[in-house]
Amino acid sequence: MSDCLFCKIVAGEVPSTKVHETETTMAFRDINPQARVHILVVPKTHHEDAVELAAADPQLLADVLATGAAVAKAEGIDVSGYRFVFNTGEDAGRTVFHAHLHLLGGELLGMFGRPTG
Ligand code: 5GP
Ligand code: ZN
Repeated sequence: MSDCLFCKIVAGEVPSTKVHETETTMAFRDINPQARVHILVVPKTHHEDAVELAAADPQLLADVLATGAAVAKAEGIDVSGYRFVFNTGEDAGRTVFHAHLHLLGGELLGMFGRPTG
């Protein structure tokens, strides 16, 4: 998709800090990190969100998760623990409409859900 930010990052048209790449996925650091380690993992092909990706290409969703786990290990947070997040829709604060997995860790993470608990 020509006007999709993450398609442009995959194509190298928008710069990013790439941490890992496979044949089908790419991982790069989030520009506005919400934890010491905050990395986004995307399928190289355009899919709207994780639910659409799961229906269209379950293996590719599995690839995204496997890349997330490999990156967690490479970042040294596989033992201390980490969180995988897929935001979907407005209430979750979704801003980029190319499926992406958030990998968060590197410190004790806060609770999530309602902003005021
Ligand atoms: P969402 O809220 O859609 O689940 O997550 C989008 C994420 O993309 C946000 O965490 C945001 O900080 C990140 N982001 C937005 N624009 C850019 C960019 O140009 N480069 C990188 N590396 N991350 C971005
Ligand atoms: Zn895209």
